[in-house]
Amino acid sequence: MSGLIGIFAFDELWSIARFIYYGLMGLQHRGQESAGITTVKDGRFYTRVCKGLVEEAFKEDTLKRLPGHIGCGGVSMDPAVSQPIVLEDRGKSLALTFSGGLLEGDLKDFGLALLRELSKSDPEQAALTVMERFKGGYSFLALTNDGHIVAGRDPMGVKPLCVGGLGFDLAVFASESSALDVVGADLSREVEPGEVMSVEMFSIKRASTGYSRRAYCSFEYVYYARPDSVMNGIHVYEVRRRIGLLLAKENPVEADVVIGVPETAIPFAMAYSQATGIPVEMGFMRTGRSVRTAIKPTQFERLVGVQLKLNPIRAAVKGKRVVLIDDSVVRGTTLRNTVYLLRKRGAKEVHVRIGSPAIVARCPYGTAVPPEDELIGRALKPDEIAQVIGADSFSYLSVDGLTEAIGLSKNSLCLGCFTGEYPV
Ligand code: SF4
Repeated sequence: MSGLIGIFAFDELWSIARFIYYGLMGLQHRGQESAGITTVKDGRFYTRVCKGLVEEAFKEDTLKRLPGHIGCGGVSMDPAVSQPIVLEDRGKSLALTFSGGLLEGDLKDFGLALLRELSKSDPEQAALTVMERFKGGYSFLALTNDGHIVAGRDPMGVKPLCVGGLGFDLAVFASESSALDVVGADLSREVEPGEVMSVEMFSIKRASTGYSRRAYCSFEYVYYARPDSVMNGIHVYEVRRRIGLLLAKENPVEADVVIGVPETAIPFAMAYSQATGIPVEMGFMRTGRSVRTAIKPTQFERLVGVQLKLNPIRAAVKGKRVVLIDDSVVRGTTLRNTVYLLRKRGAKEVHVRIGSPAIVARCPYGTAVPPEDELIGRALKPDEIAQVIGADSFSYLSVDGLTEAIGLSKNSLCLGCFTGEYPV
């Protein structure tokens, strides 16, 4: 998974790299393996791409070495893909950021095809031609060395992309509205499924494939997106609260306290508490900023009990019947450890409630789901999972519950990793 942002300032005095940097910080949750920015000035690209978090990748002096009023940036969760990638063909060059997955070909194939089309036709037509050819679920931003930004979203709108601005000063594209908020821009709207937009000085043009099937990624609402984002016109925070309410309706249990696994499951837990009247407590403290990219404990350190991620708060759970709410479950190993720690800190009972259906299938659109034979939700029934993870009970939100929480029909959503059925 990845996040992308592109900004075009309609005044050459702007130094845009700093604003792209802030926007990437607002997208950090979409990728923590690498971060990069490309700007363009006088027909030349300036690029910096680094492993690690945005704050680690860019310092004051590195931002100063990225001149220009037009640029794009990306964060990536895939260690093998750092963005933007810069491509050249017959004297023309292009910097590409991409979020999602292609059914055939890779990012480089997509970028080179776009570069070739750009030498034959205008940017909108070039992007439409390439999107017709490369099927998948994605959004992209391309920056050309002659100073265009071209943005597009696949014809089913699987992956998000929104557009906004700051008066007549800036045009901003980003994977999520949270990035627009961070740079002080106003959200105008979503880039429509199948739509391309191209920006040059004082001009924004658009074109569309006209495809009417929608298949918005439902997992964005459960896990990927920030709760302060608006996605496809729907507030992510409100979806997460509705998930908690429906989880309580579908899977009630007698208990003394509700706790959510930080940070995604906190709104689920608050709403579950509201629906059941069971008090919600802060159940965990996190150690360190992020463990996805931090030093991880060795096997020996894990054996002696080093806990870098979440430590249950004794006073919140000791002697209590606990409802533990998490957003999703993949292999079940983290959850088993969390249940074990809750018991170790004195929880009398642990009832696990998951704010999404069982993950049973792969994602063809770029989300890293482990091989199907490693998915606990595919192999075991909820009662069996409760036994394996050491919980007193275990249940998921249903697929119907998830679609009701999002507020869209099943035909407008991709639910592939929950159902094994993919939009076509
Ligand atoms: S398969 Fe799952 S993660 Fe992938 S696009 Fe569909 S809903 Fe999203």
